[in-house]
Amino acid sequence: MFSLPKNFETFDEKRKASFMALHEARQRGKKVIGTFCSYTPTELIYAAGAIPVGLCGKSEQGIAEAETVLPRTLCPLIKASYGMALSDQCPYFFFSDGIMAETTCDGKKKMYELMNALKPVHVLNLPQGRDQAMALDSWTGEMHAAAHWLEDLFDVKITDEKLHDAIVYRNRVRRALVALYEVAKTRPSPVSGYEISTVAESVDFHFTDDDLVEKIEKITRDFKARVREDAGNRPRVLITGCPTAGVREKVIRRLEEMGADYVCADNCSGPRAQKFMVDETGDPYRALAERYLKINCSVMTPNTSRFDDLRRLVPDYQVDGVIEVVLHGCHTFAVEAWNTMKVVQEELGLPYLRLDTDFSKADQGQIETRLGAFIEMMTAA
Ligand code: SF4
Ligand code: SF4
Repeated sequence: MFSLPKNFETFDEKRKASFMALHEARQRGKKVIGTFCSYTPTELIYAAGAIPVGLCGKSEQGIAEAETVLPRTLCPLIKASYGMALSDQCPYFFFSDGIMAETTCDGKKKMYELMNALKPVHVLNLPQGRDQAMALDSWTGEMHAAAHWLEDLFDVKITDEKLHDAIVYRNRVRRALVALYEVAKTRPSPVSGYEISTVAESVDFHFTDDDLVEKIEKITRDFKARVREDAGNRPRVLITGCPTAGVREKVIRRLEEMGADYVCADNCSGPRAQKFMVDETGDPYRALAERYLKINCSVMTPNTSRFDDLRRLVPDYQVDGVIEVVLHGCHTFAVEAWNTMKVVQEELGLPYLRLDTDFSKADQGQIETRLGAFIEMMTAA
């Protein structure tokens, strides 16, 4: 039995419902591991008999509490994630048996040291680059270390068979997600990008025993069958840069309400993060390491394969303009934005807009003005 968080009554209805869904999963004996990043090998968590749950902060909630400990200048995603945990406002953190973290950016890895006082945290040491052979060896070692941590935490054995099953399952989910994202390749897209991303994000919060792949496939079929009367020839936008979950309303929803279609994410919220499968043959730890090391995040140096992805995604999704979201305090994406701009404007010949923002509503008006001018620019091109 679990007691309710002390401030449960202050949760909104959605949060209460999430809490109860996870509560039921726990009653059925499910263990839970909190995660914060696309580099987290969720297959290991499934193979340990647990479920992963994404804990990234996605709103202003928790930021005030976080700022009593963390610097105000830190990225809002880190502050919101830590603040939600610190203030007991996150049902997913509340139910997590432990946290599988990673050394990506400096702010996150130092925050995890503080989070370790709240829950057991295991940190995967992510190599800073992919080009040296030793990077793959070291990352394979991290896969083994994470598996040992889970085995100790839950007193279970991660057999190769369980790990293989988890790899096959996660590959099925990824293929289904890629097909979902690809619905927006059609011009005009039969469904708004906001809606597609809402479905995709909900996948991180699947706590029942229903077949998740079947659910995604059904939604994909339904989306494909839709006809959008209002679509016209709206400009099509790819969003790149930092994760966008915390700015969905003020950037993505408003972009679409103002007349453009959000058709693709070249960030951790889109097909780019899902397209790599894990090799289902051979050493599963090596296969996991190979797959996760391919993710193109600005924390990697160099990170030129991110631009190869961009060069592919722009024609594939018939993109008319690129928006880069840079969260305040995110140095790696802020610096890398210079190269993104050059690739988009000089190589691909498309309009580029960089939005430096956070999770607050303070810059809503300014963002709308810039989105409006950007839509006009794409329409005139
Ligand atoms: S942007 Fe980078 S650090 Fe952030 S979740 Fe994605 S892979 Fe992890
Ligand atoms: S957006 Fe940037 S600073 Fe924030 S957690 Fe991700 S990599 Fe770190």
